Amino acid sequence: MRAMVLHAPGQALRLEERPDPQPGPGEVRVRVQACAVCRTDLHVVDGELRLPRLPIVPGHEIVGIIDRLGPGVSTLTLGERVGVPWLAHTCGHCAYCRLGRENLCDEPLFTGHGRDGGFATHVVADAAFCLPLALPQDPIHTAPLLCAGLIGWRSLRMAGSDAMNLGLYGFGAAAHLIAQVAQHEGRRVYAFTRPGDVQAQAFARSLGAVWAGASGETPPEPLDAAIIFAPVGALVPLALQAVRKGGRVVCGGIHMSDIPSFAYQCLWEERQLMSVANLTRADAAEFLRFAARVPLQVATTTYPLERANEALADLRAGRLQGAAVLVP
Ligand SMILES: [Zn+2]
Ligand SMILES: [Zn+2]
Repeated sequence: MRAMVLHAPGQALRLEERPDPQPGPGEVRVRVQACAVCRTDLHVVDGELRLPRLPIVPGHEIVGIIDRLGPGVSTLTLGERVGVPWLAHTCGHCAYCRLGRENLCDEPLFTGHGRDGGFATHVVADAAFCLPLALPQDPIHTAPLLCAGLIGWRSLRMAGSDAMNLGLYGFGAAAHLIAQVAQHEGRRVYAFTRPGDVQAQAFARSLGAVWAGASGETPPEPLDAAIIFAPVGALVPLALQAVRKGGRVVCGGIHMSDIPSFAYQCLWEERQLMSVANLTRADAAEFLRFAARVPLQVATTTYPLERANEALADLRAGRLQGAAVLVP
């Protein structure tokens, strides 16, 4: 197999030839067809997340075909197309797992973080955490659904079903998908981008946003809720000021720069501030059912696997519209 490997945070990934991995009990081997690049991969590579092990192969928005079954796997079949998402394994017995909140498991493993991910030709995954895929899109256009879509879905659920005026801060891979979901549910989307990013604002309008502007601007209507996808803590007080009384601000990312101090007035009047962590398999099943019924327009830029560093650099610089996808 070939893989793009991180040896130390802050270093470029290195292309390596490795022996083909063999699935252990309860595991499957997946031949990767496409793996999207998530901002979390950038946090991994840039050393903004504590890494349980190194070297590591990043990548957790994987679409591929099962080409080997480990002992004891009966729920998946050879040749089946599956998705391998961020949540790679949970303990199954901690208080969070027992309460159906496996996204908060005390001893989780994450794909491309605690176990090798999809910036590779092959990946081994826990069969119980693979997602059977029956979606209309091809692998390249399916891959971004596996984190941008899934985390976006969970963030949207957290924003609340009564959030009809919805602000999205940072109009990248997650926002461009979730804007479509929100509109399908009859909500109005207000897109906030970096000041001067007229391209991203035009992209948001082309996907049906009723308004698009710079993150510091006041939207024409007060928002019922806002989701912050950009990893920028300074957006938190801005979003709190853009939501109405009782409104909610959801932070959708795994890492953010520090939040500047702000007047209590911003939070007063029962505004709520919360974060979304990881995903559960129930979230995934729910979102994939939705995506099978309502085909989403997925904007992608593809890169050969060997050019993963370039894809990461383009994401870091905000040069992408939609999602970067690696193809082995
Ligand atoms: Zn657990
Ligand atoms: Zn992700």
